[in-house]
Amino acid sequence: DNKRTMNFGAGPAKLPQPVLLAAQKELLDYNGIGISVLEMSHRSSDFTKILKAAESLLRELLGIPDNYKVMFLQGGGTGQFSAVPLNLIGLKEDRCADYLVTGTWSSKAAKEAEKYGKVNIVHPKLDSYTKVPDPSSWSLNPSASYVYYCCNETVHGVEFNFVPETKGVVLVSDMSSNFLSRPVDVSKFGLIFAGAQKNVGCAGVTVVIVREDLLGKTLNECPVVLDYQVQAGNNSLYNTPPCFSIYILGLVLDWIQRCGGTAAMEKLSKEKSGMIYDLINQSNGFYVCPVDQTCRSRMNVPFRIGKKDGDEALRRNSWTGLPNLA
Ligand code: PMP
Repeated sequence: DNKRTMNFGAGPAKLPQPVLLAAQKELLDYNGIGISVLEMSHRSSDFTKILKAAESLLRELLGIPDNYKVMFLQGGGTGQFSAVPLNLIGLKEDRCADYLVTGTWSSKAAKEAEKYGKVNIVHPKLDSYTKVPDPSSWSLNPSASYVYYCCNETVHGVEFNFVPETKGVVLVSDMSSNFLSRPVDVSKFGLIFAGAQKNVGCAGVTVVIVREDLLGKTLNECPVVLDYQVQAGNNSLYNTPPCFSIYILGLVLDWIQRCGGTAAMEKLSKEKSGMIYDLINQSNGFYVCPVDQTCRSRMNVPFRIGKKDGDEALRRNSWTGLPNLA
């Protein structure tokens, strides 16, 4: 792999070499059938096998309980900013949702949800996106339809190191940039979603894991492609799914499993990010990480260059984070 260019961007990120080689090998002729996954029918038995294998590997890797549906949808993480309220804000009559806004991505999600119901930002407004506000400062609404948070804020490098306690209210998480990077107790969540292009594949497919009993309260105005009940009821095949992206996802899941699963990914991510944080901490203020020690992301490490007591303007203007635009 040493001839290939390094890509430190958060996403789309590099894919494991064995995944690319497998895709290359099978590009013209998948499994001896004489055509590529790019060309085959999404209703063919070959693609059905690819789809089923990806789902069962994902269930295995995350220990997804049987009462959860797994979907492979289009529209990216951004599509889910709309799909989540369209499908879940009607769970309770008040059409209210609680949002934790800890960075760009949860801020965008909250803004989108405002189109469909009342959005309550549960904590005092943050001056900068450099920490997860202490849960003692949150005021959760017990009659909210769900509580939403972004598990890893890609641009700001803020990662939750705990699962929020919502006192029985459905918990929703955007795991687009730390999906499968550590074990997760799925049973604590009503819904988890993740775009594939950062940790588990290429752009085009977004994984949605949803507890079955939450389906069926979709707002009338929800486009059918974003309707979880329809998509789950049709095993993500209501319309043509992103077949090739699902195939790549399956190859990456297989690679993760062969590496040792989510526990191995967690170890790797701690080691890799730890090397950068150690360097920042030992740089005597040359590099500065603005993020609070308790919630520094293992995925994206924002840092600035500037002397400790030096020129504020220089420091402000020297964002060197990974990435600035993910
Ligand atoms: N959520 C997070 C945490 C992200 O990092 C991104 C993309 N950078 C998105 C959502 C949006 O994803 P997409 O570009 O696939 O719509």
